[in-house]
Amino acid sequence: MSEAIMELERLDELKKLVRDVPDFPKKGIIFKDITTLLKDAKSFRASVNTLVGAIQGTLAGGVKAAPIDQVVGIESRGFIFGPVLAYLLGTGFVPVRKKGKLPSRTEQVSYELEYGTDILEIHQDALEPGQRVLVVDDLLATGGTAQAVSKLIGKLGAKVCGFTFLVELEFLKGRDKLGGYPVFSVLKY
Ligand code: AMP
Repeated sequence: MSEAIMELERLDELKKLVRDVPDFPKKGIIFKDITTLLKDAKSFRASVNTLVGAIQGTLAGGVKAAPIDQVVGIESRGFIFGPVLAYLLGTGFVPVRKKGKLPSRTEQVSYELEYGTDILEIHQDALEPGQRVLVVDDLLATGGTAQAVSKLIGKLGAKVCGFTFLVELEFLKGRDKLGGYPVFSVLKY
């Protein structure tokens, strides 16, 4: 069997472990629950290895996003893969959190949700000007959250050098909002 076909089969196995939860958190949304994949040791490891491979540009079609100075994770499920990637890439980890959670001085960005707006924050001293930042979250949907985080990183004078997600809902075209940046996702729906 060719390596490309083995890779596709492996990704198909991973996809089967993501659980669809209809009408969560509200009616009409099909929530992609990754806890069913995370609890499976081999699948968790395969997901992390695929992300690292893509970041280091070793996968066919992978995104060459290295060298990276810092990994930024988006609350809250970006805190699952973000620190693991930071550890493996040998960088620090910087959390972006929802309003009111970070204790020191912050920069803020507000962004549109389906109903109303929300605010994300980063510590003002979390990144140095010019640092190259990889942004990590579990899932790319409309791209509004990731786009807001790229603005936050820009406010500190740092540069986004790529985005990685475990899951991408391609039909929502979130990638279009992240135009110009390399984007890598493991499982596409
Ligand atoms: P968006 O800003 O639309 O790209 O939404 C991305 C954020 O919302 C991520 O942090 C996801 O964890 C969460 N999210 C959005 N849609 C879903 C979904 N269908 N299933 C699971 N998480 C979702």
